[in-house]
Amino acid sequence: MNKDKLRFVIVGHVDHGKSTLIGRLLFDTGSLPEEKIKEIKEICKSLGKEMEFGYVMDHLEEERMQGITIETAQTFFGTKTRDYIIIDAPGHVEFTKNMVTGASQAEAALLIVDASEGVKEQTKRHAYLLGLLGLKQIVVVINKMDLVNHDEKRFMGVKKEVLKFLNEIDIHPLYVIPISAKNGDNITSPSSNVSWYTGPTVLEALEGFKTSSSPLKKPLRFIVQDVLNFDKRIVVGRVETGKLKTGSQITVFPSGEKTIVNSLEEYGRTPELAEAGKSVGLTTIDKLFIERGNVIVDGGRPPAVSDRLRASLFWMDKKPYRKGETLRLRLATQEINCEIEEIESVQDSSTLELLSENQDEIKNREAAHVVIKTFKPLVVELFNEIEELGRFVLSREDTVAGGIVTGV
Ligand code: GDP
Repeated sequence: MNKDKLRFVIVGHVDHGKSTLIGRLLFDTGSLPEEKIKEIKEICKSLGKEMEFGYVMDHLEEERMQGITIETAQTFFGTKTRDYIIIDAPGHVEFTKNMVTGASQAEAALLIVDASEGVKEQTKRHAYLLGLLGLKQIVVVINKMDLVNHDEKRFMGVKKEVLKFLNEIDIHPLYVIPISAKNGDNITSPSSNVSWYTGPTVLEALEGFKTSSSPLKKPLRFIVQDVLNFDKRIVVGRVETGKLKTGSQITVFPSGEKTIVNSLEEYGRTPELAEAGKSVGLTTIDKLFIERGNVIVDGGRPPAVSDRLRASLFWMDKKPYRKGETLRLRLATQEINCEIEEIESVQDSSTLELLSENQDEIKNREAAHVVIKTFKPLVVELFNEIEELGRFVLSREDTVAGGIVTGV
């Protein structure tokens, strides 16, 4: 059986221990080859230091630059149950862009905070970015507990500070874990140094994260690409999620009209079933008006039909967006004119500085929380639920922004 994969990102203020934690996770899960460990130990020894787990990352970094073993900006490790992909976030611009355009979608995040320093500017900026990207599975780790004598009071103080800030931006972490990345406390095994803590270790928390469920298990979403009129009328499209069956009842959106699948059509074959990922044609029992851009679903939860959507977007054009301008929105095979009605907040994706709230423009490389008004209703869903109907691009002549739907 194929093992589950979970993609996550580690963020936090500089020097709070990201690299050390990654090195630890790789080491403690036995994901580093013996000779690599030896090499790193020797480097540390020659520098007159004890084993530094941050070096694991520096070391992998070097190899990455030479392009030998590790693919760009991703680090892998595995457990019995699952493989993990850690997505690096040093280049915020690339990371933000990849997240909103779906190129590297992290499903979860660890936010690291130094126990002796507490919440810092970048802790806030990173957390804000996570919120903007709609990441809901977040665990906070309070690192360097060894520097504060593993003191429970200190932990509770920092925990309170972090939660206060996170809750203000509507982030509700699943756990807050006291750790020492350096010493390996609460990373893969519980630590007697913090025996007052009874929650999960970092690895247990990771194992508890949910991976996005397989497209096959989701409700049917058949996205219409074209309608061909031969001797019979064939609706051509792609089964993005779920299963399409001959004889099953379907509803066409946005109209909401119902009919039954008469046949599935595929180059002279008429299969009974087409599953997620498959492009296929279909004929219906009733002659409904169906056109490109429509979405066909079966009995379960219906998609939303709306002319207003809340979204996070990444602007990637030199010419800024100014309120009032009309743009073309493409979502699945739907194409509709739209306006950005409200710009609720804007964050510079290179410095992660929160620029201002309720402004009138969005500039190159900025990420923004917005409300979009489309000139006709769209069939749309939350990105977290059905990716294919929750991701869009905006264009003038060329593409100017990519975005994800966070609310309908
Ligand atoms: P990054 O900038 O977030 O990647 O932070 P690093 O992992 O490079 O760590 C910054 C410094 O903090 C390094 O000198 C680490 O050795 C040190 N450090 C990281 N974790 C711990 C910890 O748990 N305890 C102590 N005492 N030092 C730590």
